[in-house]
Amino acid sequence: MSSVQIRSVSKSYAQTSVIKDVSVDIPDGEFVILVGPSGCGKSTLLRMIAGLEDISGGEIAIGGNVINDVAPKSRDIAMVFQNYALYPHMTIRENMEFALQLKKVAKSEIDEKVMRAADILGLRELLSRYPRQLSGGQRQRVAMGRAIVRDPKVFLFDEPLSNLDAKLRVQMRAEIKALHQRLKTTTVYVTHDQVEAMTMADRIVVMRSGIVEQAGTPLELYDNPANMFVAQFIGSPAMNILGGQVAEGAFETDDGVRLFMPAAAVTDGSRIHYGIRPEHIVLSDKGVPGTVHLVEPTGASTEVIVTAGRQQITVLAHERLPVRPGQQVHLAYDTAKVCLFDEREQRVRIEG
Ligand code: ADP
Repeated sequence: MSSVQIRSVSKSYAQTSVIKDVSVDIPDGEFVILVGPSGCGKSTLLRMIAGLEDISGGEIAIGGNVINDVAPKSRDIAMVFQNYALYPHMTIRENMEFALQLKKVAKSEIDEKVMRAADILGLRELLSRYPRQLSGGQRQRVAMGRAIVRDPKVFLFDEPLSNLDAKLRVQMRAEIKALHQRLKTTTVYVTHDQVEAMTMADRIVVMRSGIVEQAGTPLELYDNPANMFVAQFIGSPAMNILGGQVAEGAFETDDGVRLFMPAAAVTDGSRIHYGIRPEHIVLSDKGVPGTVHLVEPTGASTEVIVTAGRQQITVLAHERLPVRPGQQVHLAYDTAKVCLFDEREQRVRIEG
């Protein structure tokens, strides 16, 4: 049993409160990602689970036992850091053995655990090398190997892929996910990268300024963002959001762009935010008129930025679009896909 419960946890440094009454329930075996902009408190929360920071208020339980006052080394967790934190003067094998030697594990058992981890991570050929003789991706794999050999109740990852180049990051993402599917160890993973969160997590916890904005599966957050922050944070390119008001049953921006409203309980004159995802808009011969401002083809898809009034609206098509800057186009979409947010930036329910 290695669930993790975070109950009404807070953290302050002197007068500054950086975590405010956060509760997250992580079932045994789940892969949870804490995501949010830099400074939102995700590393602090992870470090409190690890015991590297004191908990100012509330409690954290691992496997049902409150660990607020348990020493880090007795929490039965293993943490993987962004900078790998390998011992430079030790070989890869020694790096992986070290924690087990401290625990006075028998030599035969250490050998077995290190070889098993080395096999899982493809490190067998590298065991006699030193960290400086490895690439960034290999070092990150050793850092994971060091966590695996300890067979912990919980893995904690703090932005483990940030130092890798884009291609390697994608590869390591898949490796970590496959590793979790194989070991099924409860995992808490911190990143500021929403794509990483979307592709790897069983469940995502979106944080901002020390609070949880929303928690859910990746597709729940994508389909049903609770507020404008989550709507814009999850999804790439980000959801288009236009500010304006409801006028005669339509939505109108301050510069006069009129858009169809979905059926929702908002009265004429209300100020709202109107959101539509780039992938839900198509260029058509009917719809909202606009002018192509920029075309960004990636080969597999095309991103087009269209100007309507003073608004810039991003359109994403999973095909090649024969459009050029300056061209007049029309934007069409199903109004059932529109997300409305009230003045407090909270989601307004769409009827029907
Ligand atoms: P994130 O991981 O989301 O980028 P952090 O958890 O590192 O955010 O930091 C959250 C907030 O706490 C930040 O505003 C940061 O400046 C502040 N903070 C972190 N560590 C300390 C510290 N030791 N003393 C004072 N403030 C800190």
